[in-house]
Amino acid sequence: MARNDDHHYADCQDPDCPRFPCRVYKEGWQAGYWRGWSDGETAGFAAGYSAGAASAAPAAS
Ligand SMILES: [Zn+2]
Repeated sequence: MARNDDHHYADCQDPDCPRFPCRVYKEGWQAGYWRGWSDGETAGFAAGYSAGAASAAPAAS
């Protein structure tokens, strides 16, 4: 498969693309994505868990 070396980094579809802007863009995107995912999951879990635990254990206090 021939590589298109003229594509824009944001349009790059090749996960192993050797072009520098593509690699940097993917790294940044993945880092941001996973960090946002993990922050959101942690916050959502904390909020949902305490609410769920409170309603599931009415005799806790
Ligand atoms: Zn690329």
